[in-house]
Amino acid sequence: MSNETVPKVDVDIVYEEERPVLYDVDGKIAYLTLNRVKYHNSQNAQMLYALDDAFFKATGDDDIKVIVLRANGKHFSAGHDIGTPGRDFERGREDRRSMNYNHDNKPGAEKAYVREQEVYLEFCRRWRAVPKPTIAQVHKGCIAGGLMLAWVCDLIVASDDAFFQDPVVQMGFPGVEYFAHPFELNVRRAKEFLLLGERWSAQRVLAAGMINKVVPRDELDAAVKAWAEKIATQPRLAMALTKQACNHIEDLQGKRSGMDMVYGYHHFAHANNTIVKGDYIAGFDGKSMAKSNKDKQS
Ligand code: ZN
Repeated sequence: MSNETVPKVDVDIVYEEERPVLYDVDGKIAYLTLNRVKYHNSQNAQMLYALDDAFFKATGDDDIKVIVLRANGKHFSAGHDIGTPGRDFERGREDRRSMNYNHDNKPGAEKAYVREQEVYLEFCRRWRAVPKPTIAQVHKGCIAGGLMLAWVCDLIVASDDAFFQDPVVQMGFPGVEYFAHPFELNVRRAKEFLLLGERWSAQRVLAAGMINKVVPRDELDAAVKAWAEKIATQPRLAMALTKQACNHIEDLQGKRSGMDMVYGYHHFAHANNTIVKGDYIAGFDGKSMAKSNKDKQS
C-alpha cells in the first residue's frame, strides 16, 4: 500500500433527517433553521453543507435583507458530531466549497487537517463574510462547535435559558477550530472560559460582551424579528460595507492570521491525541462529552 493514500473506509452512515437545515422567508428576512433535532443539532457534514447552501441562497436573493440563524429542538447546537449514526467524518464530498482535495482516503494527520479546513474553518469564514447582516438566535445549549455558528453571525440574541461553553481543552485542544475566543471575550476571560471549560449563562456572556441581547425565552422569536425588520430598512450596500469594515479591522487586529496559527496548534493536538491516546479526539464521544460538560457548571 502506498503511504500516500489509505483505502476508503466503508462505513454505515444513517442520516436521520433529510432536511438538516430548513429555509424559510418572512418578508425581507431569511430564516435558516438547524434541524437535527434528534441529536441537538450536532454538526455533521450533511448539515454544514446544507447550511452553506442556505447562506448562499439567502445571499443571492435580492429580496432578502437580513439572515437569521436559529435552531429547532432542545438546544441551539451541541457542537460537532462526534458520535451519531449520521456522523459522516469518513465520507468525502464531490461538492467541496474550498480549493482543496478530499480527505477521506488520506493517511495520518492529513485526513482531519484537510477535512476540518473545509467544513469548520473555511465554512465559518465564508459565513462570516456573507454581505448581508446575520443574526444568531440562540436558545439553551451553544457548545463548542455551536459557538462557531453563533460567532460568525454579526449579532447574537439569546434567550435567558441559553448557555455557552467550550469544553474541548479536556480533549487536548486549545479550543475549537475557529479560534475567535480572544476576540469574542477579552483575553483574560477567554483563558478562563477555556481553562475551566464551564458553562456560562446568557447573562454572563452578555456582561462579557460576547452577545448583544438577552430576552425571556418566550420573547426570543419576536425580539429577533423586531431587530431583523429594523435592520432590513437600511440600504443593502451600506450594510455590506459596514460588515466588511468591521470584519477587516478585526482581521487587521490579527483575527485571521491568529486563527490560521492556532489551527496548526489544534491539529498538532489532534496528531498528539492519535499518538498518545490512539484516537484523534482522545477517545471522547458524544455521550462522554455530554456527561463531562454537564458537570462543568460555573
Ligand atoms: Zn478538530
